[in-house]
Parts: sequence; C-alpha cells; structure tokens
Amino acid sequence: MLLENELYESYKTLGISKEILDFSNEVLKELKERFEKIDEVAEYNQMKVIYAMQKNQVSEMHLEGSTGYGYTDPGRDTLEAVFADVFHTEDALVRAQIACGTHALTIALFGNLRPGDEMISISGKPYDTLEGVIGIRETKGSLAEYGVSYKQVDLLKNGSFDFEGIKAAITDKTKLVEIQRSKGYLPRPTLSVQAIGEAVKFVKSIRKDIIVMVDNCYGEFVDVVEPSDFGADMVVGSLIKNPGGGLAPLGGYIAGTKECVENASYWLMTPGLGKEVGASLGVNRSFYQGLFLAPTVTAGAVKGAIFAANVYERLGFKVVPDSKEPRHDIIQAVEFGFPEGVIEFCKGIQAAAPVDSHVVPEPWAMPGYDADVIMAAGAFISGASIELSADGPIKPPYAVYFQGGLTWYHAKLGIMKSLQYLKDGGYVTL
Ligand SMILES: *Cc1c(COP(=O)(O)O)cnc(C)c1O
Repeated sequence: MLLENELYESYKTLGISKEILDFSNEVLKELKERFEKIDEVAEYNQMKVIYAMQKNQVSEMHLEGSTGYGYTDPGRDTLEAVFADVFHTEDALVRAQIACGTHALTIALFGNLRPGDEMISISGKPYDTLEGVIGIRETKGSLAEYGVSYKQVDLLKNGSFDFEGIKAAITDKTKLVEIQRSKGYLPRPTLSVQAIGEAVKFVKSIRKDIIVMVDNCYGEFVDVVEPSDFGADMVVGSLIKNPGGGLAPLGGYIAGTKECVENASYWLMTPGLGKEVGASLGVNRSFYQGLFLAPTVTAGAVKGAIFAANVYERLGFKVVPDSKEPRHDIIQAVEFGFPEGVIEFCKGIQAAAPVDSHVVPEPWAMPGYDADVIMAAGAFISGASIELSADGPIKPPYAVYFQGGLTWYHAKLGIMKSLQYLKDGGYVTL
C-alpha cells in the first residue's frame, strides 16, 4: 500500500493501534468491488442532480434569500422545482420552516388527512417520534385527537410486505397509507425501493385514490431510483440527513403530487397562503450546494455502514443489514446484547469527531423516546445525522444504530475508533 507507514503514523496520532488498523484493512480488501458499485450509484445520482439544476436554470441570484413574508423568493421556488425534478414528482415543498423530519412527516399527514379518515402504516410500527404524532402514544394534538384513526400492518417475519394483511386492513375510510423505507430504531430489514414500488402498486390496485406516503428518511440517493419513481404520492425527509449533503443547516422536504404538496403547505403555513410565504433568509445557497453534494456524501455514508457491518459481523455480533446484504438506507445496526457495547461504541464515534471529540456521551432521557438514549455526534450542524453519528436506546437487544460520515475516511476512522474502545474495554478480542 502506498503511504502505508505515513497512514499508520497518522492513525496512531488519533489513538488507533496497529492491530485495529491491520484488522480494518483486512476487512476492506474484500469490499473493493462493492465500493465500486456504490461509486457508480453516486455518479448516476450526481448527474441526476446536475441535470435538474441545469433544467431549472439555477442562477447565481437563486443562491440569495428573502426576508419578511417571503412573497417572492425565486431561489426558494426554483429549489423546489429542482427537488421535484430529482424525485420525478409534480411539486415539492423544501423549507427552512420545516424543523425536522418528524415535522415534515407531520405536515404531510395533517395536511392530507381529515377527521374521520383512517391511515394505515403497512411497514409495521413507524419511527418512534411519529407515535406521538399519530397518537399511538397518547399525545396532545395528535392525529387521534383530531379524529383520524390508525391501523398497522406489520411486515412478515422475512421482512416483506404482508399483502393479505394490507388487503384486509384497507376500508372505505382508508385515506392514506404510510411506508417507512428505513428501519429506524427497529432491527428489521430495510425496504428496497422496488419492494416499496410493489406495495404502492398493490395499494393502488385496491383503490387508486389512497395516498401513499413514504418516510424516505436516510434513503435518498442510496439507490438510483426513489419511491416516487414507483408511484408514491409523497416522499418525505429531513435536510440534515442525506439530501442536505451535510451543508443544509436545517430543513425538510416533501416531494409529491401537486395536490398532496399543496395540502401539506397549508398545514406548514396557513390555509390560503401555503407555498406563497416563508422567507428563506440565508439558507438557499446551502440547500442548493448540499443537494449538489448529497450523492457523494451519501455514498461515503453507505461505505461506512458496510464497513461497520463487515467489521462487527466478523467479531461475532449480529449486524442488520448483514455484511453482504444490499443497502437501501445508510443506517447500520449492531446488536451487542449488553449495554456497555452500545456505550463504548458511541464513545468511540464521539472520539473520532472533528467537533466535540473531547466530550464523553452518556445515556439520557430524550423527548419522544421511551428509554434512555445515548447519542454520539460531533457535528458541524447540531444533530445532523448525515454526519458521523451513532445512537441507541439502552434497552434489549442493546443495538447501536450508526450512520453518516461526510466523507468515507471519517466514517472509517469512526468505526476503527469504536472498535478501539470496545477492545480497550475488554469487550471484544480481534
Ligand atoms: C430521522 C427519521 C425521522 C425523522 O426524525 P427527525 O429527528 O425528526 O428528523 C423519521 N423517520 C425515520 C425513519 C427517520 O430515520
């Protein structure tokens, strides 16, 4: 290897032992071909983004923002057209006023559901924070309080959709079906865009007017297609995950049909005003530039996840997805089976960060979660999980969820550092 000694010396200064470096490079030798395929996906998606920007004639003036009401903001409006072209949808809502992914999903749901309607999640229990939004967990202001009922169809044991169960669950009241692409905090398989596409087709074959919303968080740009390419009415996500490319300082998006996006905009803003208002202040430039970088940033994160799976599977831990499985999101779960595994792993990730590396993370009660959660992140954007980060609830099966890395090299360092902590603590032997 070129620069072998120099690299070793530089890793040494970061507290990585020769043993960990050799073990890691051994694992990496077998990942060359897979990494090449990931680069190809990134290349394809890079062209998709550039094409969307050129088609909409993104100009220097679009990088500036608006203030006050934001009545005219060509930068914001053009960015929404770019998002719509990237996701191949009629329209999009891409706003700084969307506080997080949960908020984007919330306005998509509240904007499109009315009292008496029913929504069905067909990919099992939705992401933790949505439990409060839907009212699965009793919460003030939930959809349940507004008379929207909820049903759930779990995935089958093998992780595929339960088509019979879905058919049985759908009634005349069913207005919206939710599919979560990523596993979130559940150690279940991730859903491929193709599998989601089949479910969309099935739901639409029962009743064409049922709205299918996909929680696309962590899935954007992992594949060359998105759920909206297969008929999903809305794809929804956070800009401090994949599509913000690490540069978006906040925000969320909804890409979908004109009607669904319009309905959501009335819940974000007000009935009547919708997309017309909402100043972008100074964020347009980072939204554009972040989207531009998102394909390569996401590719680095996918490489990190695969590397982690291969490292920890080799050491005998259950990893989801496993070392060989195809990838549909950037999350990697490692099941340690004991709390110290989760804690030491997170400490290692934290210690590898460019920011706040000296901070030691600890498990803590978090709003929206039902167990203590430990979170490791030393991010340029607070809470951005497209940046190298790890978190896990301190409850069985004591799984840590790892994601991100603005560059593949940083993701690699983070995994090596986590391994160093686990080894130094006596929890693993190489
Ligand atoms: C991150 C995420 C969300 C939204 O979470 P926020 O922290 O509110 O951005 C929703 N669903 C899934 C699957 C997620 O990964």
